[in-house]
Amino acid sequence: MLIDSFNRKIDYLRLSVTDRCNLRCTYCMPSSGIKLIDRKEMLSFEEILKAVGILSEMGIRKIRITGGEPLVRVGIIDLIKQIKKIEKITDISITTNGILLNEYLDELYKMPVQGINISLDTLDRQKYKEITRGGEINQVLSAISDSINIGIKSVKINVVITDLLDEKDITGFARMTLNKPVHVRFIEMMQPAGSDGSSGTIECSSIGGINSNQDFNSVDTIFSVMKKIGEYHEVSDKIGNGPALYYKFKKARGSIGFIINDKNLCSYCNRIRLTPDGTIRLCLFSDKEYDIKKKIRDNCCRADIKAEITEFVKAKPENREESCRYDNKDKAPINFKLKDFMNRIGG
Ligand code: SAM
Repeated sequence: MLIDSFNRKIDYLRLSVTDRCNLRCTYCMPSSGIKLIDRKEMLSFEEILKAVGILSEMGIRKIRITGGEPLVRVGIIDLIKQIKKIEKITDISITTNGILLNEYLDELYKMPVQGINISLDTLDRQKYKEITRGGEINQVLSAISDSINIGIKSVKINVVITDLLDEKDITGFARMTLNKPVHVRFIEMMQPAGSDGSSGTIECSSIGGINSNQDFNSVDTIFSVMKKIGEYHEVSDKIGNGPALYYKFKKARGSIGFIINDKNLCSYCNRIRLTPDGTIRLCLFSDKEYDIKKKIRDNCCRADIKAEITEFVKAKPENREESCRYDNKDKAPINFKLKDFMNRIGG
């Protein structure tokens, strides 16, 4: 069993299978693009299976496939089928932008995957194009309905709170939960890597003016729009593995969740991440890495790799504030900035 120094049981792996994506969301990647991982540095399927096999023997039970866009990785369905054969893995789900989902939905349903999270930050066609730099919303809307209709066990919509999110969007998303078994999660935007210009890769101006607008699009605003729709209550049953708080309207089939930047939720964190180029990460806000690819390519013995991972996981920071302190020797005010681009670490 993998246990960190704060007695958290780590049984959940976010597996980022590629840094490539077919969209260019403004809060995720700069318009100029980013330096992509060299293909020979990416884990092969065989190496991914080896890494996941080792982690499963150490206590990982649930896996979320992410990216970049996981469905752009050639052979992704075969990879997921192979992961499903790993004895101790009991739960596989996927996070996707939905653009290519129709092509793969049948196979994902038949496997089956436990859940599909689909990212959609607005219900307006034009705003969607703007946020994703060119995406076609109809493909995503039909991917959502098809996933529900085919019977995927858990369908969630990830809505990052940008300043383009307005009352009409919030109402539309909230109403979806009334008659569809869908969980809409509003996600507080995290400051992208380099967005202060320090790394020279992404600057605030290049994220298209789309930023977390604390004045309007705060969680409070979303609650005030929800109040206009009807009565809702907090859901005590846990929906999923993440640090989200959920609410339900009376008689609604779905729910509304919030993933907020609150360090107190870190006490529930049960996850680690594996990047496409084969490093294990402990927290979105920490750049500490364990290079499992090197160990696998050097043919190191499994027992030694496991011992090193056990030690590494003990360094999982208590919370995101502590993650940020690693680089903050002066103990200056904490700046919750992601330490790497989301298309590599996988959200
Ligand atoms: N391509 C897939 C997708 O679009 O869902 C999977 C990868 S994406 C990096 C995973 C999740 O991270 C998405 O829901 C995305 O909205 C979220 N994300 C990306 N950048 C973010 C940021 N700066 N703050 C909060 N969430 C972010």
